[in-house]
Amino acid sequence: MTRSTTRPEDSPWALSVASLTASAGRSRDVDARFPAPSGIGDEVIGVREGDEVHVTGRIDSVVDGLVLTAHIDAPVHAECTRCLTPLDHAWGVDVTAFFPYDSAAFADEADDGHEVQIVAGEEEDGDVYPLSDDRTIADLEALLRDTLVEALPLQPLCRPDCRGLCPQCGTNLNEHPDHRHEVTDIRFAALEELRRRMAEENGGSGDGSDSRDGSGDAGSGSSAGDAGTRRNA
Ligand SMILES: [Zn+2]
Ligand SMILES: [Zn+2]
Repeated sequence: MTRSTTRPEDSPWALSVASLTASAGRSRDVDARFPAPSGIGDEVIGVREGDEVHVTGRIDSVVDGLVLTAHIDAPVHAECTRCLTPLDHAWGVDVTAFFPYDSAAFADEADDGHEVQIVAGEEEDGDVYPLSDDRTIADLEALLRDTLVEALPLQPLCRPDCRGLCPQCGTNLNEHPDHRHEVTDIRFAALEELRRRMAEENGGSGDGSDSRDGSGDAGSGSSAGDAGTRRNA
């Protein structure tokens, strides 16, 4: 419960920048792996907490802070919104972020200040994140979360022209492009069944009139009735 356990360098997302902040004009390559922060997407699409996120790029010191220019690779889990195929693949986002030395802007933003609010408002247009108080650590947790959440595709598709699923039976139309339901076939089949049954009934009378009735019964029910009365008689 002691606060000393939350030192900036203990963060899983701590990036040491001590060598850069001594003066402007320094730079070094960044090639680091971090656990994905929580809160990136959901069950449908997102990055699972703890999955490895790879950050490659460079970080440069300028007069008033550090500039990170990087490519973030993250394993996104998603489903195609049309055919529900799982889409698990690496996914890359480019990011540029500024870490100002003057962290007062962040503190004042939370407290009060009229003019400071304007400054903070301008800075929010870019990706601006605080350094640790001693300027040795850039914590990338918020940066990773913000960047990945913002870049999540809203309508992930397995491919741009995904055909989706058959609305009647759920067959994947990408795998079965010729799949279709012949709705009229069902009606014809029922009609055919009816015709067959009537032919059977007429044939069951066994008086040799079935061929004549079979051709005429569809047009006039009276002939079939006549056959029935004649049979009863
Ligand atoms: Zn699809
Ligand atoms: Zn179908």
